[in-house]
Amino acid sequence: MKNDCVFCAIAEAEIPSFKVYEDELVLAYLDINPFTKGHTLVIPKVHSTGLLDTSDETLAAVLARVKKIAAHLKKALPCDGFNILQNNGAAAGQTVMHLHFHIVPRYGQEEITFVSHTGDMKALKALAEQLRF
Ligand code: 5GP
Ligand code: ZN
Repeated sequence: MKNDCVFCAIAEAEIPSFKVYEDELVLAYLDINPFTKGHTLVIPKVHSTGLLDTSDETLAAVLARVKKIAAHLKKALPCDGFNILQNNGAAAGQTVMHLHFHIVPRYGQEEITFVSHTGDMKALKALAEQLRF
């Protein structure tokens, strides 16, 4: 493997994948351990680690492909909606350090949730003031 990156190896067909879509910029294939039926990964063929080290131009182009592939999946599968997920860093659950967007078709029965907490308005106001730029 050229740079020890599994998704680069998939992009170069050194490792097989269940391909759904391919063009000059991206490859999309089924996730090997799907959350739901049709769970698809979209990767740029050129390696970057995540959102922050990818150029705005590449990101915009990849996201346009994510939209096109999601629209296709929504037509081709009996799903009612879908999630787009893009993890950055191990703390966020990223396990493969090559930029990828998950398209997760949703059928209404799955339990895939982020747990939210009731917001403390004072703390939220202070945090927004700290973070605003
Ligand atoms: P992450 O947690 O990094 O956002 O997601 C990585 C995803 O890649 C996981 O959902 C995992 O199942 C998938 N994955 C890891 N290795 C392979 C592989 O070799 N082939 C495919 N198709 N998916 C993989
Ligand atoms: Zn890579």
